[in-house]
Amino acid sequence: QCITHCPVGALMVRNDIDKVYKALEDPELITVVQVAPAVRTAWAEFLNVDDSHATTGLMVASLKRIGFDYVFDTNFSADLTIMEEGTEFLELYSEGNMKYPLFTSCCPGWVRFMKSQYPDMVKYLSTSKSPQQMFGAVAKSYYADILGVNPNKIFCVSIMPCSAKKHEAGIPSINDSQADRDVDVVITTRELEKIIKAENLDFTMLKEESFDSPLGIGSGAGAIFGVTGGVMEAALRSAYFLVTGKNPDPDSFKSVRGNKGWKESKFNIDGNQVNVAVVSGLGNARKLMDSIIKGDVKYDFVEVMACPGGCSGGGGQPIREGMELASARGEKLYDIDRSMYLRYSHENPSIKKLYDDYLEKPSSHLAHKLLHTDHESWDTPLSPLITMVQDENFFDE
Ligand code: SF4
Repeated sequence: QCITHCPVGALMVRNDIDKVYKALEDPELITVVQVAPAVRTAWAEFLNVDDSHATTGLMVASLKRIGFDYVFDTNFSADLTIMEEGTEFLELYSEGNMKYPLFTSCCPGWVRFMKSQYPDMVKYLSTSKSPQQMFGAVAKSYYADILGVNPNKIFCVSIMPCSAKKHEAGIPSINDSQADRDVDVVITTRELEKIIKAENLDFTMLKEESFDSPLGIGSGAGAIFGVTGGVMEAALRSAYFLVTGKNPDPDSFKSVRGNKGWKESKFNIDGNQVNVAVVSGLGNARKLMDSIIKGDVKYDFVEVMACPGGCSGGGGQPIREGMELASARGEKLYDIDRSMYLRYSHENPSIKKLYDDYLEKPSSHLAHKLLHTDHESWDTPLSPLITMVQDENFFDE
């Protein structure tokens, strides 16, 4: 495997392009690729084309030309994460004795920071896996059954805005399907850019294509996972429905949007006050944790993302000298959300079918086996990657 330097010199990032090509050339393997929400906001920046030539449909068409058998959407598994994490939150909240908030756990940079800096608080992390890992577990169980193949025949590639996702996919205890690994290889948006260049692919000449079904159906709530505040907003939309049986206005929780490093809001859901905080950047995460532990602030549910602005500004995204693009990319995700017919994770028909046909219901025995993890079952060895995520100045605003 090759190692390349991070353009900002903060870390060494593994290059896994060769593993992707090896799988694409293997006639025995079924190659399945998932694309994270934030990737679609930045995948074509290198060509400086306008937004009409950098669409999600052209990204899907490009991945088909590169040779993937099935092109799926991490927005699907972001919706699944909401179903599991939202249910987990409501169960804890309804018990009424939460000493500390439930912390989101879909950002591996944040999870490693928590484990190394606040080990006594790890038990308050949500056990729900990240969308990347939920996708891998579902692809190699439910989807392998649909195809009628051995899960090890499926080679699962992730395209992520994130270098830390490479580490996450390799945590032994996070792999729960019957296959050797749930996610086989993770490449970043920058690595996708390199593949498109190497293929000499003029994607502007292609026709738009849709994600494959059923793991390619995602909601607007899934799309905003790629921006700070998006996980919280998506979770609150579905938590409101689960409590009241009615959908809220999808923009009811928009006060958690924006690039401020530490945001807080209070919401009334059926007479219950829910106090939430949304933090991005590890320096802000440290200030938040110290305040929570001292008792200066009290929340019920907290979203933390290691990168300022969330995944749209992730360490695997294209770097533009002197430009900070997290905010502009995040706006594109809000545009996608507003343009969607589906704006609630719980209304995603592929998610409903997955529960009806396979998982039964959120937090079921099988859902726990495939979609949840024990964060305390692995240690945090120091590596260039952890050095990166522990460098608060790198991520802080
Ligand atoms: Fe990765 Fe950064 Fe997103 Fe966390 S916030 S998942 S470290 S890109």
